[in-house]
Amino acid sequence: MRADEVRKQVAGFTAFLKAAGAEVLLTTNEWELVRFRTADVTSVIYFNKKGETSFTGDSFTAWKAFRNNQAWKPALATEDGKRAPRVKKASPVIRTVRERDGDLCFFCRKEVIESEASLEHLVPLGHGGPSHMSNFFLAHKVCNSRAGHLSAVEKIAFHVREELKNAEKWWKRDNKVGTYFLRSRGDSTFPRDY
Ligand SMILES: [Zn+2]
Repeated sequence: MRADEVRKQVAGFTAFLKAAGAEVLLTTNEWELVRFRTADVTSVIYFNKKGETSFTGDSFTAWKAFRNNQAWKPALATEDGKRAPRVKKASPVIRTVRERDGDLCFFCRKEVIESEASLEHLVPLGHGGPSHMSNFFLAHKVCNSRAGHLSAVEKIAFHVREELKNAEKWWKRDNKVGTYFLRSRGDSTFPRDY
């Protein structure tokens, strides 16, 4: 599947997803064509610089149904045909924290889905930390409990280290794409290699 083919039909496809009850999410970087959530599964259609696509989660099944004009129901039912338990509603505080900071874990800087979400108290309540938004961050339950013994300063150091690692990763990738683009234009006024 070529990325161009998907891109041309993104508007129709997202309308199809919404009509089926999926939650269409904003893409989180330039290599994503579509991102959506059904029950606890986040599905993404990615592409690479060669214009090739890859499908994760339910995205391929949904895309196929969309292309073939078939009905598609997000996977909410269990095998015995009963409805799966409803997705746990986010607590209002977690929702507010997500709106403020985005959906990444304070520690590992990866996406946090609702069933794995917890509130990190940067300064623990037991150490006089305020029970207030200013002290709350989004974190995976696992990451949160692993970081339980760290002081606030150590937690921030961990956060910064992971953030820098990510920034470096994206910079390297963008840089590669930039070099590729310039080479393909045969532009000699820019440095070819960094
Ligand atoms: Zn995490």
